[in-house]
Amino acid sequence: MILFAEAKNRVLEGTNVVGKTETVPVIDALNRVLAASITAPFNVPNADNSAMDGYGVRYDDLQSDRPVTLTVIADLPAGDRFEHPLQTRQAVRIMTGAPIPVGCDCVVPQEDVKTQPGQVIIPPGQKRGAHIRLSGEDLAVGQPVLPRGRKLGPADLGLLTSLGLVDIPVFQKIRVALLSTGNEIMTPGIPLKPGWVYDSNRTSLRAALQSLGVDVLDLGLVPDQREAIAHALTRGGQQADAIISTGGVSVGDFDLVKQVLKELGEIVFWKVAMQPGKPQAYGRLGQAMFFGLPGNPVACLVVYHLIVKQALNKMMGANEIPLPVLSLPFHGQLKKKAGRMNFLRGRVHFDAPAAFVETTGPQGSGILSSMAMANALIMVPEEVTQLSHGDPVAVLLLDQH
Ligand code: AMP
Ligand code: MG
Repeated sequence: MILFAEAKNRVLEGTNVVGKTETVPVIDALNRVLAASITAPFNVPNADNSAMDGYGVRYDDLQSDRPVTLTVIADLPAGDRFEHPLQTRQAVRIMTGAPIPVGCDCVVPQEDVKTQPGQVIIPPGQKRGAHIRLSGEDLAVGQPVLPRGRKLGPADLGLLTSLGLVDIPVFQKIRVALLSTGNEIMTPGIPLKPGWVYDSNRTSLRAALQSLGVDVLDLGLVPDQREAIAHALTRGGQQADAIISTGGVSVGDFDLVKQVLKELGEIVFWKVAMQPGKPQAYGRLGQAMFFGLPGNPVACLVVYHLIVKQALNKMMGANEIPLPVLSLPFHGQLKKKAGRMNFLRGRVHFDAPAAFVETTGPQGSGILSSMAMANALIMVPEEVTQLSHGDPVAVLLLDQH
């Protein structure tokens, strides 16, 4: 039996970046990983501009103790430019985003002024430079914007577009083969026989993989039968960068996945001191890395979230993405065995400042509803044997959709 932290470290150490690159349009690059660092090709914003709707003035025309009346010589909507320098006692009406004319060094919001035909009355108390967004204040030309290895989110794509970029270098998508195993597993759509279960693992994992940003090669549902397993795994080893299987890695008579992999490739099989998710297998087959997840639906997803996802991100070329872990008071009571790490399915109630976490109810490894109701995993370390109401616990937030 090895500890959870050791299992995770060994898997991540044994994982390599696949590393092939391509160029894709920025608009199609959600969840892709940058293959080169991006620096700003020009200042953003590219000109000093107004942060408010109001009046652009020369600060030196103003008085600190009384209002001043200025002549309004132009009206500047966003996108227009006033080409002439402001002269003494002149002002421009200026809209948010419009470039600041030469000589103007202060914008006074329109709600602070009074107007009369052709004129504006500026009250005392203004500041030089007020309400002006300076060229380059978001990004200066040459400044690093996003590093190689950045997994791109919606704001990143907007940022790259603001730099005028149309195509960017990214790592090619990795391809992950997925199969589920078990004689008692059924494809949905057929009436269930007593004691059989529908193949929920392939559905959950396929969805998780799609949101991670990999290509899924679905190898289907395979019975506990040597040739069928060998056939599916061989195909995965030829056509994918990684293979994920569920089931068949425990110690039962029909747990053939690990035996078949031993014959065809390399495998390490661990009992990991964690609950759920004790039996796990890792290895290689052909060009692919192999992840053998437990068949229990909860265990399979928990191990995916805690170990496999990080390994796949690394294969994709992504820099390490820190896990979103926070400490929260636990509501409820819990007793557990020492020596293994527990990952309870939890529901965080985000009622700041009184946020807390509780379990989602019965915690058996097969109770998939406990996972579906969860928005977090409560991580209870090996040495802890009980939790009382109000004890602080480490909580790993799960993605919300
Ligand atoms: P195994 O790891 O193959 O011993 O399976 C452990 C438990 O998980 C058994 O109760 C299986 O019926 C269940 N199980 C295995 N594979 C799946 C699957 N693809 N979908 C739902 N349940 C599964
Ligand atoms: Mg099985």
